[in-house]
Amino acid sequence: MQMKPAQLTQIQKELSTIKERSPFYAKKFKDIDLSDVRTQADFEKLPFSEKADLREAYPLGIAAVPQSKIVRIHSSSGTTGTPVIIPYTKKDVDDWAEMFARCYRMAGVTAEDRIQITPGYGLWTAGSGFQAGAERLGAMAIPMGPGNTKKQLRFMQDLKSTVLCATSSYALLLAEKINEAGIRDKIYLRTGLIGSERWSKKMRNRIANELGVELYDIYGLTEIYGPGIGIACKEQNGMHIWEDYVYCEVVNPKTGEIVPDGEEGELVLTTLQKEGAPLIRYRTHDLTRILPGDCACGCKDVRIDTILGRTDDMVKVHGVNIFPAQIEEVINFTDGTSSEYQVMIDHMLGKDILTVFFETEATGEERKKIEEQLTEIFKGKIGVTPVAKAVGIGDLPRSEKKTQRIFDNRY
Ligand code: ZN
Repeated sequence: MQMKPAQLTQIQKELSTIKERSPFYAKKFKDIDLSDVRTQADFEKLPFSEKADLREAYPLGIAAVPQSKIVRIHSSSGTTGTPVIIPYTKKDVDDWAEMFARCYRMAGVTAEDRIQITPGYGLWTAGSGFQAGAERLGAMAIPMGPGNTKKQLRFMQDLKSTVLCATSSYALLLAEKINEAGIRDKIYLRTGLIGSERWSKKMRNRIANELGVELYDIYGLTEIYGPGIGIACKEQNGMHIWEDYVYCEVVNPKTGEIVPDGEEGELVLTTLQKEGAPLIRYRTHDLTRILPGDCACGCKDVRIDTILGRTDDMVKVHGVNIFPAQIEEVINFTDGTSSEYQVMIDHMLGKDILTVFFETEATGEERKKIEEQLTEIFKGKIGVTPVAKAVGIGDLPRSEKKTQRIFDNRY
């Protein structure tokens, strides 16, 4: 992708003092004269940053400002080992709220709206990002946080929430509970902002239909502000990323080479204005592509495709690389399945066995037929023969946060 002149200027400005401000970057770039970065090609030669770098800098080694300028920290939910801590200055917090307010506007949310926020607050960036953006917009924030579904539904009705912010897993759970309780006609939701995990078309359609809302994917990660650095627009074709704050690259995850626009790879982000913890060429491990051309909505900011998966989500079975997105495509193609699935990979009697559990309303013979169909489609599309097992609707676990769907039990 062509770097915009303003982005290059901002990057050069950032690089000109970064070694003095940050011991982390002084060490990282010790053999590089950063004043040599004059073009996009020069920039593309700089080394990547990784989550492991941030972990190594624990607790505040990443800070590029004196401690007195730090007004807040957030921490990303590392599954193992040392957490990652990201410091924010007042400007960082303000910039993030500004980006988030833009996201709301992009989704058609106004000061008249009542926004029910179900992602978690605290160290996790999600809740506070949704909150700050809502306040910046002038809308009414209802800071529920996750869980307590009964109270969620009560407030949703009594406060007449018009916007729901949630993970896709929790949005689905709420949609199912609303239908179970038969209170759909007492719900005023019209828009959903859904973030922080990849989700299938089928799941999207179910949530949109059951809640009667228009859904917008929101993008972000704790290391780079949090959610709100980009969002889908009304064209529903990818997500715009705010280019005055973040520069996007997509690289081949194996070689690190930039891939042409339109081609799938790993998203690499550079912050352009961040003070507390600037990140240069940070590898997100999110798989996506840059969508070439202008968006019909008129917004000029770059678009990335819906997140297709993570580089670390891939499983290898019988020598075939399998991504969750491919499994979702199989589920999507198989008539009679709902959106929910779970994959178990086991090693038995010297053989890898991949079992796909999926939900269906069908019973008896019809259920068997769907299992056979899914097996065929899976084999055709992915090249591995699975064991397909149908279960009833609601039998697979629902989650208030992210749902784990692939369990590799081989190791
Ligand atoms: Zn657009």
